[in-house]
Amino acid sequence: MRRPVGAGRSGKIMGKIMSRSDVDVVVVGAGFAGMYLLKRLRDAGFSHRVLEAGDDVGGTWYWNRYPGARCDISTTDYQFTWDPELHEQWTWSEKHAAQPEILRYAQFVAKKHDLYSGIDFEVRVDRAEWNDATHKWSIHTSTGETITCRHYVMATGCLSVPKEPDINGTDRFRGDVYVTGRWPHEGVDFTGKKVAVIGTGSSAIQSIPLIAEQASELVVFQRTPNYSIPAFNGPAPQYRVERLKADRAAYEAEARLSPTGVPITMPTVSALSVPRETAFEMLEVAWKKGELLEPGLVFMDAGTNRAANDVVAEFMRTKIREVVKDPVTAEILSPRKHPYGTKRPCMDTNYFQTYNLPHVRLVDLNSSPIRTITESGIEFGDESHDFDAIVYATGFDAMTGAIVSVDITGKDGVTLKKKWEHGPHNYLGLTTVGFPNLYMITGPGSPSVLSNMMVSIEQHVDWITDTIIDMRDKGFETIEPTPAAEESWRVHCTDCADITLFQETDSWYMGANVPGKPRVLFPYIGGVGRYRRICDEVRTRDYLGFVLEGSGKRQVNDGPIREIQPDVEMVLDMMATLGLPPIESMSPTDARAFSEASSAMRPTGPNVGEIVDGVLPGAGGDLNYRLYRPATTGPHPVVVYYHGGGWVFGSHVSDDPLCRAMCSMADVIIISVDYRHAPEDRFPAAADDGFAALKWVADNIESLGGVPGQIAVAGWSAGGNIAAVTAQTARDAGGPALRGQLLLTPVTDGSRQHPSHQQNASGYILTKSLMEWFWNHYADPSDRTNPKASPLLAKDLGNLPPAMIVTCQYDPLRDEGDAYADALRAAGVPVQHLKARGHIHTSITMVDALPSGVGPRQKMAAALKGFFA
Ligand code: NAP
Repeated sequence: MRRPVGAGRSGKIMGKIMSRSDVDVVVVGAGFAGMYLLKRLRDAGFSHRVLEAGDDVGGTWYWNRYPGARCDISTTDYQFTWDPELHEQWTWSEKHAAQPEILRYAQFVAKKHDLYSGIDFEVRVDRAEWNDATHKWSIHTSTGETITCRHYVMATGCLSVPKEPDINGTDRFRGDVYVTGRWPHEGVDFTGKKVAVIGTGSSAIQSIPLIAEQASELVVFQRTPNYSIPAFNGPAPQYRVERLKADRAAYEAEARLSPTGVPITMPTVSALSVPRETAFEMLEVAWKKGELLEPGLVFMDAGTNRAANDVVAEFMRTKIREVVKDPVTAEILSPRKHPYGTKRPCMDTNYFQTYNLPHVRLVDLNSSPIRTITESGIEFGDESHDFDAIVYATGFDAMTGAIVSVDITGKDGVTLKKKWEHGPHNYLGLTTVGFPNLYMITGPGSPSVLSNMMVSIEQHVDWITDTIIDMRDKGFETIEPTPAAEESWRVHCTDCADITLFQETDSWYMGANVPGKPRVLFPYIGGVGRYRRICDEVRTRDYLGFVLEGSGKRQVNDGPIREIQPDVEMVLDMMATLGLPPIESMSPTDARAFSEASSAMRPTGPNVGEIVDGVLPGAGGDLNYRLYRPATTGPHPVVVYYHGGGWVFGSHVSDDPLCRAMCSMADVIIISVDYRHAPEDRFPAAADDGFAALKWVADNIESLGGVPGQIAVAGWSAGGNIAAVTAQTARDAGGPALRGQLLLTPVTDGSRQHPSHQQNASGYILTKSLMEWFWNHYADPSDRTNPKASPLLAKDLGNLPPAMIVTCQYDPLRDEGDAYADALRAAGVPVQHLKARGHIHTSITMVDALPSGVGPRQKMAAALKGFFA
């Protein structure tokens, strides 16, 4: 099917003749994004021009016609949802549709909705300038035309500019040269030819088996081996088809709020919690589904923990060894350096099998680098080989290549290329400061290439169109993000990237495949659903982070959009779905049982050298303790640790993962001591036990494996309260002399009058009402002003040991911890104060469950080490 003759020349919109040189909106690109935009703009009555460099619709599926090109997302999910009739009118022939079929689909949609008449084909945009006086863009095209417009949308795709092959002598070769991303429309016949393929990414992995079927000789030049799973192509997955039949709307809604744009079941099992054999059995089930995302979704920690990822990676290598007969070739094809999923895994049909064919050879460029391309072939290692054709499957200048290939000049004459020299700074991946009314579809900073593109495209098109409709309705002419919002988006994107393994790998996701490109994670990895919620929230909060101007009006609603750590937010979201009863509605006995049950489900934390359980004399009877000894040779400094639990629940073993982490990271003995709990034993029982335990440890430090005099206290939450109180008591009692106090989100003030108690009253696990419940069980109101309950209220805070105080942004206790740090500092005590951005009261204790806690724990461990230095 070809586009109708005479397309792209319509000058009518909603019955009015529209000027073609001055329009409301110019869209660049007529791939799936440009097509849907055109439909929405037309329906909304905007005058528009859609400019497309190719001579047909389809975007990536128009250009990428190499043999074997297929979509790696199932056809049940990779299709438009905005026209429900399409589901009846179009039937896909297989699970992973091939390029010709997807292009036919694009053409079918374009014809059905008369999109051809709204597109100017074979027109490139060379230059675009913002005019701050007229509040319009001027768009200069390859045909010599200049179009002015209010809004300018780059719908140019993420993988549309092939990377220049950075190999010596590429211009010299006299044989046939092909680039997978610019394949000849008429196809290529390799029959009887000697062919070289350079690259082993998705494009190569799909095309190599088919090129091998024709070529008389095929040499594949591999720099980095890739993970690839078989597509097992055939009919669409039955379980998806059935769900769609039963309730398409629900399925699509789930996709839109899912992490990837495809309904999935989120994993809850750690790869490190099951035996290797079981892990492989689970992976086998996922592998057999032939769906790209499945193997990465078997374990909850494959994307965040290298050891967990290695389980998946080794499974994949096993699969390669099962197929490839020559063990040396199998090993060269086995990825070992990059974690699974940090480069996009590939989907293939007979890729690894191809290397068993006698006329196919694999060259490992790490041991035999290409020296140069010559007139007749390729010189590599100590060989020289003649070829009839070279296929470059060397990838793309991804995400930003197509956007900055147009010379876009914004306010104050700054070009986008210049602005993005050090990273593609943007707000929501949609807009960027200094370039009003410029929008990107699936740009850097949006989920784009880490998602089902169809879902992301539709969401972006809807957000942009709804925004400019809103602006028209309210009389605004311009929209531009604020620098603060853009910076907050950068920080949020970095927070998301920091908890994954992506940054370990040199990939095109990281810009690492193009020399000189800044090294950042280009796509947003926080997930499609979270991203959609954020974009929606921006609009419902009056365009948070944007300045809107027009008709003499100016609206600025500045502020950060997401400060909470992404993994913490995920835990909160997950807990919200569980509908758990509030702890303060329980009896202390039930609360203790609940706390123990929750602890049983968490990761255990790192191994330490030795764990010894014992009993020590407390102020009112024996107390249990647990000693964590490092694996290094002792003696070691000793830290007496007090657990959290609001003085009501918890025990010497309840903070086990945190104690293990502190022991191994700080190379100190941690002695976690129990204390009597309320309401059975109210104030000051816990405080008295805390001091008694410290004294006993100090007296027995040598026999415990410690260094005499090298002793400190630490505690979390109510345990932080006991640690702070114990430090004051030890000072007043003339010993034991402490080297330091580590207080993690401590309770310091029973008055609870600080703003954080209101600001973070609910929604962050420790609530204002739970804190009240704790205090009511622990101490009478008259006792709460006693410094043994509220160490902040002590008259004298001088001569206390150096402190490390950690407070968390979304903790009701934040301000009382901050106040204690300030007060100690004012009293001359050396204080390190870590204000953990985006954290909640509990998150830093969640070892191996929340990667964002690693940084704060490293700082805590460094502080402990520093106490004893
Ligand atoms: P790619 O993943 O970037 O792969 C490029 C390959 O070329 C890599 O193996 C790379 O090696 C190699 N290479 C680059 N420069 C080289 C040089 N100078 N010397 C030797 N080798 C060199 O590109 P792609 O295969 O076109 O795929 C890009 C993306 O497009 C995919 O990740 C995917 O998102 C998308 N895609 C999807 C499908 C699908 O839906 N099924 C199909 C094709 C593409 P290094 O890894 O060492 O850099």
